[in-house]
Amino acid sequence: MTVDGAGKQRTNDPGKTKRVVVVGGGTAGWMTASYLVAAFGERIDVTVVESARVGTIGVGEATFSDIRHFFEFLKLSESDWMPACNATYKLAVRFENWREPGHHFYHPFEQLGSVDGFPLSDWWLRNPTTSRFDKDCFVMASLCDAERSPRYLDGKLIDQGFVEQQRDETTARSTIVEYQGTQFPYAYHFEAALLAKFLTTYSTDRGVRHIVDDVTDVVLDEDGYIGHVQTAEHGRLEGDLFVDCTGFRALLLNKALEEPFVSYQDTLPNDSAVALQVPLDMDREPLRPCTTATAQEAGWIWTIPLISRIGTGYVYSADYTTPEEAERTLREFVGPAAQDVEANHIKMRIGRSRRSWVKNCVGIGLSSGFVEPLESTGIFFIHHAIEQIVKYFPAGRDDHRLRDLYNESIAHVQDGVREFLVLHYVGAKRADNQYWKDTKTRTIPDTLAERIENWKYKVPDAQTVFPHYHGLPPYSYNCILLGTGGIEVRHSPALDMADDRAAIAEFERIRLKAEKLVAELPTQNEYFAAMRAGA
Ligand code: FAD
Repeated sequence: MTVDGAGKQRTNDPGKTKRVVVVGGGTAGWMTASYLVAAFGERIDVTVVESARVGTIGVGEATFSDIRHFFEFLKLSESDWMPACNATYKLAVRFENWREPGHHFYHPFEQLGSVDGFPLSDWWLRNPTTSRFDKDCFVMASLCDAERSPRYLDGKLIDQGFVEQQRDETTARSTIVEYQGTQFPYAYHFEAALLAKFLTTYSTDRGVRHIVDDVTDVVLDEDGYIGHVQTAEHGRLEGDLFVDCTGFRALLLNKALEEPFVSYQDTLPNDSAVALQVPLDMDREPLRPCTTATAQEAGWIWTIPLISRIGTGYVYSADYTTPEEAERTLREFVGPAAQDVEANHIKMRIGRSRRSWVKNCVGIGLSSGFVEPLESTGIFFIHHAIEQIVKYFPAGRDDHRLRDLYNESIAHVQDGVREFLVLHYVGAKRADNQYWKDTKTRTIPDTLAERIENWKYKVPDAQTVFPHYHGLPPYSYNCILLGTGGIEVRHSPALDMADDRAAIAEFERIRLKAEKLVAELPTQNEYFAAMRAGA
């Protein structure tokens, strides 16, 4: 045991992974530090070093519903963290104009039901109740259209069969993987900078050491492992495990350890974004309980409603438009509220590091991989990675099997999500300019091409989607396939001979339930106004 400058006892047990140095203090850095300290407490030493000179990416504000396991693991309830991060609820992603101008559909956080062993989507194709697949099959689509909160004013969750446990020190904490197959009814939107700030306090209160300084060099030892990182003002930081959270720079993983980067650009060409933070007056403007993705000439615009502002940005391919034109389009889309707001132009690195864990360095966040913001998977990648790093945490340098298993699970998640995103573009019916025409002829991953052929005959199910865990259940593929509308899909021939009365009754049950919930639930605005007033 040694004692550092801050007077804290530090473990230097040789051969044991005890000292973790996290380089980078964005969403990835602070989520990692807080999760590690929640998992291992004082049994490990965690240091976060972040630069005051190099900023964070400044975007990344919509999540997957699995994020609730992250907060649960940290033993934080919504009232602990949501107000501090200006957070709102997200029930779905709303896609506008992907099929044709004026059309919209939702990809909700709600499982697709089935009748007599056939998914409702199949029954719907056989005999559509209305032209809205999403509204006929999911309650959430109606709640989004009506801008409803998923909670009543007394805090009670809408009835989705979820029992919210009262937790104490001895309650087992949940993680994403054991909850596969269930679907919590919402995710969150939050201000990324406020979440990082909140998690900084959470982590440092629990013993994480925080250094604000530049890492100027990454020094390898004779075995090619990272021995220490050199900082400008705090000398060398030694560690057993280094977590590269330096964003697209990937200073440790790709630069120092020279791990190759596998680009996805041939299949996902959007490589740029311009973002704005637009003020919002919650008393006058609706807080839509969903992220909106509005198709544009050379990509799409995201709209993320937060308590006091909207996060918005145009994701585009530089092969089809310029940064100036993209910014102009975004400003026109937002209107006068964008007038005095400064734009943040971002160049995106699309793809993944071949391996995310090399020697004693793990890349988490943008250094590990990124597939463009459609469907908000960046924070999910981080959350999944930190759960995995805890599960595969090494005892020492010899644990290469743990490393290999970790790398396999990370690659599966990122490759699977890539397939899912490519489906949005291939499936989009619109083909009104070169950008959208090219989405139909561009290379797509071989395995996806084969799957799409299958889906034309049988809607996606567990047997035909990407076979490894990647956070997206078969129902998500059904939503995108039927929502984007460019790929002709037919119902199972067996349904022509089946009795459809139970399916018709199920569609009616969903309609009535949606009608009842829309009548009963407050809007998001009403819910958060009441919460903030202390009701
Ligand atoms: P960054 O935020 O870039 O942080 C890097 C950190 O490294 C900073 O603290 C910096 O100071 C530090 N650093 C760099 N160099 C040094 C150095 N030499 N010394 C010390 N420190 C250093 N994800 C979602 O889930 N939902 C979304 O809606 C979403 N939207 C996105 C939109 C866009 C346009 C983009 C590009 C990404 C989006 N993402 C989204 C992804 C999400 O933003 C990231 O996954 C998340 O912010 C994590 O970023 P990061 O922490 O890896 O990197």
